[in-house]
Amino acid sequence: MVRLSQELRQILSRIDGRGYKAYQDIKGVYDFGEYLLSIDHVQGDPFAAPSRVSVRVRMAQAAFPPELYANKIRRIALGDFLARAFDVAIEEITKGKRGTGRSGLFLIDAGGQEVLERNAVVVETEFLEARFVMGLPAAGRTVLGRQAEEMFFQELPQIVRRALFFRSLPAKSLWEHIEVAEDQEGLRGQLDERGLVAFVANGAVLPRRSGVDDRPLLAGKGQVVVPFQSPPDLEVELQRPNQGPIQGMGIPKGVTLIAGGGFHGKSTLLRALERGVYDHLPGDGREGVVTIQEAVKIRAEDGRFVEKVDISPFIKNLPFGKETKTFSTENASGSTSQAANIIEALEMGARLLLIDEDTSATNFMIRDARMQALVHKAKEPITPFVDKVRQLYEEHGVSIILVMGGSGDYFDVADTVLMLDEYRPLSVTKQAKEIVQAFPTRRTGEGGETFGALPRRRPLPESFDPSRGSREVKIDAKGLKAILFGTTAIDLSAVEQLVDLSQTRAIGEAIHYYAVHYASRGFALKEGLSHLMEDLERQGLDILSPFKVGNLAKPRIFEIASAINRMRSLKIR
Ligand code: ADP
Ligand code: MG
Repeated sequence: MVRLSQELRQILSRIDGRGYKAYQDIKGVYDFGEYLLSIDHVQGDPFAAPSRVSVRVRMAQAAFPPELYANKIRRIALGDFLARAFDVAIEEITKGKRGTGRSGLFLIDAGGQEVLERNAVVVETEFLEARFVMGLPAAGRTVLGRQAEEMFFQELPQIVRRALFFRSLPAKSLWEHIEVAEDQEGLRGQLDERGLVAFVANGAVLPRRSGVDDRPLLAGKGQVVVPFQSPPDLEVELQRPNQGPIQGMGIPKGVTLIAGGGFHGKSTLLRALERGVYDHLPGDGREGVVTIQEAVKIRAEDGRFVEKVDISPFIKNLPFGKETKTFSTENASGSTSQAANIIEALEMGARLLLIDEDTSATNFMIRDARMQALVHKAKEPITPFVDKVRQLYEEHGVSIILVMGGSGDYFDVADTVLMLDEYRPLSVTKQAKEIVQAFPTRRTGEGGETFGALPRRRPLPESFDPSRGSREVKIDAKGLKAILFGTTAIDLSAVEQLVDLSQTRAIGEAIHYYAVHYASRGFALKEGLSHLMEDLERQGLDILSPFKVGNLAKPRIFEIASAINRMRSLKIR
């Protein structure tokens, strides 16, 4: 039932000075003329999670030109822009704290450098809806009704007017935001037909400000920033639907090596490629860097849990006869964890693996001729990646981009070799092949005949118990890289393409959704999660939560699987 906004005013003045529980009376929907205000959940006390509120504006009134939300990616980008505008408006308009706990707070879930599908601002054909939270003001535990009235009747209307109506927004940056996001989808969509797995535009700025600041590195005061420039023989031209043709380096399918001296920018390039599965903001520097959707960063992760993964392509004959076709461990080594990470990525349909020597297990990556001479093959369980990489590509069509400054043994198996020289990529495939002729490797190939079939594991439904204490379902994101699912802690610190806390929250909820809808029906992990992704595509992120929230962002299937694979409660049939 929709009530008049005056009723909210009356309730607030009636409950002024009463105990905090009296705030429960304001739950409901109110007509503010320009928008509907919905108070969806009222916090229990001033220190609890703040109250969930949403505002719905009719498209006819918000008056965005329909082209701005004409397709899915445009709706996502428009929602993203509006959440950021809302966030800025909160900053400009609110006076901040006004009592105990979170009193006076407004908070919306605006994104970082990526433009992700999120449900902070949902754009539909008929209306748009912003979801945010408010800290309802209190002195001690006493309702401050006047101040709440100020929040609902002074501040919020100004925020809404500033952020959710086309007329108040900077049209040029809004259009740019949407077109640049759509262009990245367009670029990504051309990779496959052009025989590429990634593209880095000329002029792209890859380095970031710091390890904890994802914005572009700024030039000045002794700081040099070298914009990306493709080597001539790898340069291609792709089309952007809005901004037209663009030139840059195309990385072909196959095995690509990124060599070069230490500190010359190898890892920075690889990290940009990892993030190229997402769209970036205009001005990010990486809005011309795109990678195919099915690109997965692989690294070593010793200590991780592994449940029945067939790592036998890489590792066989462990000491004391431990078998590796259904390899399980509570405490993987560097090499077994890296092998499991690869097999799990392949299981989910990865078509490009991104690997950096900095975060790899050396004995997994290489085993040179001298070591082969000392340690007999029968005593070495590991088949190094160098002997498997061509089979991966030739039998399974999986490309690899590998940062490797430390071993030339990979020259034999690479299709493309890049060398970074003071942040500039040089194409050195020819030289590398000449070196292979001049200095033949004395290694013996250890790869065997084939890579072997890819697995299809079926998780048992009892793996996923979301209950904790008296709560039947209790799932929390504990920062970007950790989830507490019921009482099961999930460590995602090595899952490097997880970029947004709201994705982490969504993953926690997605595991539960998957468990209830698909694991319970015996689906294999890949099939179950593919169904989940289709449900998300069709019905949106809201299906993940039993009540209305605005703090979820869409994760990829690979990161959801990564979380499930790291649950120490996971049991495979
Ligand atoms: P490598 O992996 O080759 O050792 P990194 O990629 O870690 O090198 O880069 C080393 C340093 O150089 C980092 O601090 C990074 O931010 C900086 N850097 C990388 N690329 C550029 C660039 N194009 N312009 C300026 N600085 C860069
Ligand atoms: Mg490095």
